[in-house]
Amino acid sequence: MYPASFEYLAPTQLADAIELLRQYGDDAKLLAGGQSLVPMMKLRVARPKVLIDIHRIGALNYIREEAGAIRLGAMTRHVQIEESSLIREKILMLAEAASEIGDTQVRNRGTIGGALVEADPCGDYGAVVLALNGQMKCLGPRGERIIPAADFFTFAYTTTLESDEILTEIVISLADKSSAGVYLKLEKVAGDFAIASAAVQLGLDSDGACNEIGIGVTGGGTVPQKALSVESLLRGKTITSALIDQAGQLIQESAEPIEDLRGSAAYKKKALSAILRRAIAESLRRAETLRSS
Ligand SMILES: Cc1cc2nc3c(=O)[nH]c(=O)nc-3n(C[C@H](O)[C@H](O)[C@H](O)COP(=O)(O)OP(=O)(O)OC[C@H]3O[C@@H](n4cnc5c(N)ncnc54)[C@H](O)[C@@H]3O)c2cc1C
Repeated sequence: MYPASFEYLAPTQLADAIELLRQYGDDAKLLAGGQSLVPMMKLRVARPKVLIDIHRIGALNYIREEAGAIRLGAMTRHVQIEESSLIREKILMLAEAASEIGDTQVRNRGTIGGALVEADPCGDYGAVVLALNGQMKCLGPRGERIIPAADFFTFAYTTTLESDEILTEIVISLADKSSAGVYLKLEKVAGDFAIASAAVQLGLDSDGACNEIGIGVTGGGTVPQKALSVESLLRGKTITSALIDQAGQLIQESAEPIEDLRGSAAYKKKALSAILRRAIAESLRRAETLRSS
């Protein structure tokens, strides 16, 4: 199907994009990589009268390290994140998540900002920004504000971003050098959205006890979740296989997955438990390797 007709605008400056959003209000939609929006327009589920293409705003596409944090412009493509040596060195789980998204075409066009704002309950970045306590920098007619990842996702396909705001930057503070992260995803077929996924960042002290832990999961409900109860369970303890099993049990009991074509709620609870246990074990293995090197 073809989309309903629309006016196409392509500003090159962020300020102009904000002004256009203010001017056209709910009639306008931002276009980033188009990997979610364009299919929706073709199905006529989305019918914006005005499309504001932000891909010519070069100031929104960057990956840089600054003041102990990695900053990613919202228009940074999945492939750039997947292939960035800085990201691979400093936040491996983010590169792992990007490499799991869709197929080559989707990764070449899709952007981290678009994926986070789309807030698909099975999207890959949600778990990562929650595990790493990421922050979303947003700009609108009322100025700039920072939304912590934990406050960003409110429901499936819904965030706390206002309709006249642009997500401009994702900021992730760098973890201690002795901590290691991993992102694991269970999918029905390669390139599909996750049935369940887990992002785990784990650090060990000199005695081998867990002194840093961040966990985000998808597949446990309508939004990606920060697994606070599992983080509390692991923090300060020596991580044994019995403790990992307990963590799996805890997430299984608290998850409220949505039953859909990817599986029943009961199956998804078990899938989430399994992928989380695997991710904790792998992050522990990586943290132990770091500690002994
Ligand atoms: C076949 C296929 C497979 C896929 N598989 C996966 C997968 O496995 N995992 C996964 O996570 N995703 C997957 N995706 C989705 C993909 O990651 C998209 O790139 C992403 O959801 C949307 O990003 P985009 O840049 O294409 O945004 P667009 O489609 O252009 O926009 C999406 C929404 O976000 C808004 N928006 C975009 N950028 C901004 C911004 N900076 N500020 C405010 N609002 C903004 C738009 O107005 C629109 O409402 C898949 C998509 C396809 C087509």
